Amino acid sequence: MPTEANRRNFFRTLRFRLMAWNALVVIVTGVVMLVGLREGVRITLLHELDQLLAEDANEVELALRRYSSTDSKALREQLDRKALGHAQHQWFVQLSDAQAGVLYQSLHAPPDDELKKRQVSSATTVGNWRFVDRVVATPSMIRVRVGSSLEMLHADVARLDKLAVLATGIVLLTAPICGYWLAGRATRPLNQMIVTMSQLRPSRLDERLAIRETGDELDRLSLTFNRLLDRIGSYLQERRDSLANAAHELRTPLAAIRSSIEVALASGRTVDEYEGLLEEIIEEAGSLELLVNQLLLLSETEAEQLRVHKDYVRLDELIDKAMDMFGGVAEYREIQLNCPALPRVAVNGNCQHLRQVVYNLIDNALKFTPAGGQVRVRLTFEGEPPTTVRFAVEDTGLGIPAEELPRVFDRFFKGTNRRSGSAEVRGTGLGLSICQAVVRAHEGTIEADSEPGRRTCFTVRLPIVPLRSDDSHDDRRNLTMQRTS
Ligand code: ADP
Repeated sequence: MPTEANRRNFFRTLRFRLMAWNALVVIVTGVVMLVGLREGVRITLLHELDQLLAEDANEVELALRRYSSTDSKALREQLDRKALGHAQHQWFVQLSDAQAGVLYQSLHAPPDDELKKRQVSSATTVGNWRFVDRVVATPSMIRVRVGSSLEMLHADVARLDKLAVLATGIVLLTAPICGYWLAGRATRPLNQMIVTMSQLRPSRLDERLAIRETGDELDRLSLTFNRLLDRIGSYLQERRDSLANAAHELRTPLAAIRSSIEVALASGRTVDEYEGLLEEIIEEAGSLELLVNQLLLLSETEAEQLRVHKDYVRLDELIDKAMDMFGGVAEYREIQLNCPALPRVAVNGNCQHLRQVVYNLIDNALKFTPAGGQVRVRLTFEGEPPTTVRFAVEDTGLGIPAEELPRVFDRFFKGTNRRSGSAEVRGTGLGLSICQAVVRAHEGTIEADSEPGRRTCFTVRLPIVPLRSDDSHDDRRNLTMQRTS
């Protein structure tokens, strides 16, 4: 037994609504067509009758002129014969004049009062009769009225009405049934989609919707949905890999801390040994902190992609500060760090995140360049008028092997060119993925280009915004604008 809820749900289904609309449209169209057809037939029959009556009136007029008197026996016989010949249509003719009234009328003439109506100029219907008038000068003015009963025409139209009612009944019955069947066919793939989709789980995303190869909207919807599932699947896989990598990265310093503490607790040590162990613990805790901070930054940046950036950031000032900050490191590592005059440029974005990009790229360049090498930082404009700023960090370091180049922006990717050293030099493999996430969130691009053993260049492109009036007059650094060719 269908419950009340099931019944309510049925009336809400697409299938029912399609059926109802289909039935409504078919029924309205059918009824309009039948009414139109009936009226068309009635008007056509009437028109034909009018033409016949007009021809008959001509015939009577000719006879009247030939016999020139309404009293002529031959005329009356001719008219009687014609009336008899058309008895089934109750055809009639009536001759009258203004003084004497009716002079002659044939067998089936309607009752007098029906015909005493005023003279008509075109075919007219009075009661159940249709007639035409003609005035003939013989020489007195005789009114010829020829007419016929409309009963047969009404009987024809009534037959048509019966057929129309029958046809409407059939349409009323078949339209909803056919509509329901058609709607069922049209919505069947939707039902299959619902079943497949309801079986999907985050842990089981391997199900795909069937493609019927019809190329219709439902096929396109299935294709789009399947692609969405592919993307969700690879996104979830990426997340899982990320989590596993993060756990792996966290485990190494944690294990080092644990073993240092175990060694410290094992037996009595000298103060120097304790100090050494504590330093190791601090160093490993530092790399743990760096990793956690980078993970936080990465998730923050990815969430930021959904938000609009509103801050006005002077990119040249950020780079200027970074140059000051890394100057000492470069000097210590005997690397030449240089930067031509920076043009004033502003972008819309998150200052802290953009600073991270600048620092990561310069830091990497210094990390992967041996002593005696060079790191060059450039800031130039692109477009005419300038629409984009290009920030490039180029080094004459170890370079990146061609097969690793496409993977350098992957999370936790660490290249084979890494040198052993302190935790900071070892790196987390997250720096470039953070750069990419930040740049994308700022609607920019980042790319890497490298010749192994010779040079590496990272290039960031960001859309610029006009300088504020106070910044455009700021001439503290007397810099020259540069353009790339
Ligand atoms: P990490 O923190 O390990 O440096 P990144 O994401 O910053 O992680 O870099 C990923 C990998 O890309 C590095 O391990 C290194 O192999 C390579 N790489 C990045 N920058 C450079 C560079 N300037 N020169 C050579 N290799 C680089």
